Amino acid sequence: PIVTPQPTTDVPASAALLERATRVIPGGVNSPVRAFRAVGGTPRFMASASGPWLTDVDGNRYVDLICSWGPMILGHAHPDVLEAVNSAAAKGFSFGTPSENEVLLAEEIVSRMDPVDQVRLVNSGTEATMSALRLARGFTGRDVVVKFAGCYHGHVDALLAAAGSGVATFALPDSAGVPRSSAGETIVLPYNDLAALEAAFAERGHEIAAVITEAAPGNMGVVPPAPGFTEGLRRITADHGALLISDEVMTGFRCSPSGYHGLEEHPSGAADLYTFGKVMGGGFPTAAFGGRADVMAMLAPQGPVYQAGTLSGNPVASAAGLATLRGCTPEVYARLDVVSRAIADATSAALTSASVPHTIQWAGSMFSVFFRDAAVTGYDDARDQDTDAFRRFFHAMLGQGVHLPPSAFESWFVSAAHDDAAVDHVLSALPAAARAAAT
Ligand code: PLP
Repeated sequence: PIVTPQPTTDVPASAALLERATRVIPGGVNSPVRAFRAVGGTPRFMASASGPWLTDVDGNRYVDLICSWGPMILGHAHPDVLEAVNSAAAKGFSFGTPSENEVLLAEEIVSRMDPVDQVRLVNSGTEATMSALRLARGFTGRDVVVKFAGCYHGHVDALLAAAGSGVATFALPDSAGVPRSSAGETIVLPYNDLAALEAAFAERGHEIAAVITEAAPGNMGVVPPAPGFTEGLRRITADHGALLISDEVMTGFRCSPSGYHGLEEHPSGAADLYTFGKVMGGGFPTAAFGGRADVMAMLAPQGPVYQAGTLSGNPVASAAGLATLRGCTPEVYARLDVVSRAIADATSAALTSASVPHTIQWAGSMFSVFFRDAAVTGYDDARDQDTDAFRRFFHAMLGQGVHLPPSAFESWFVSAAHDDAAVDHVLSALPAAARAAAT
């Protein structure tokens, strides 16, 4: 629900910036969920960030549980990444020719992801999924794409139907401006429902170019695939000559050194194409799509599927991504597990003592808290939660210096820089926030 903003006098510098921003930027923000519309109040304008902490323009500090919606896996302004960025920037910002850093980043991704023979670097997750779709259509000579309700793949026309993330937060059925012809080539099915997929393929299998799924959805809150679901996607698509695209933009290099892929068994084979973003850019705008060599060979300049970008493979962004991936050691993944478990367990304990119904769901170290007492297996379940309780909980946490994602439909993200002091700060804020959620 869209609620009336609360008084803003406690953060005057953020409020003043919001007023100025609203004059020159629609809604005052460059990505909708940042606007706090679902929770009310004034979004905090950040001045700086370091490790697990954000500092806003009024001088308030927050433990960051957004981590830029995933990328900041090593924490903010990590010294090794900063050094890599500074040293790359000193050598020039963008060449418009091939350069070494993009080769190193591509090699790092390919070496971590077995099923990926080649990648093409792009500038955002949206571009990655848009390009993967075009490639799948070019490769198969078919037009129709299947997506699952509640999965978000960026703001690609064909993929905005029943999408998660901000589309879910604002309860939008679809976006205006998406041509009927484009939406008409998208089949939206319930997540975790193989029978629905079988039925769609039985009817239109010869038209379907690809099935795209989040490797483990994080954009309707975290909803892991049921046992056998990913396996079923692989089998059904292969039987009908369609490609399987696994969107690892959020899960890639976060859930494991490869992604959610590394946490699952793949007895009948991996996906044909993958998309990546977030962690692989270390906070800079770089992303990728990649997969089977025979499919990737269809891309220009080798093949007939056109795809390009002035800043793609940017040397500074590639350096940031490479330093971040190289910094993702086994110790980093172990720390993400410890931190996320400590915060989730304490959140559950606090909500239980305040008698607030909730369910916590996981994908690797990604988790989200649903304000309902039953498991969530798909988008209808995710929407059936007490978003008002979340709103009260969110503001009580914010007021105590913990910045959660401002939506009940998102994963919470932690970093390896979340030290014991940051975790303790979160834990100490939870009881009061749970009581606020209960009122
Ligand atoms: N795919 C998934 C799974 C995502 O979570 C996102 C962004 O949240 C995207 C694609 C789009 O990425 P971007 O916001 O970089 O365009």
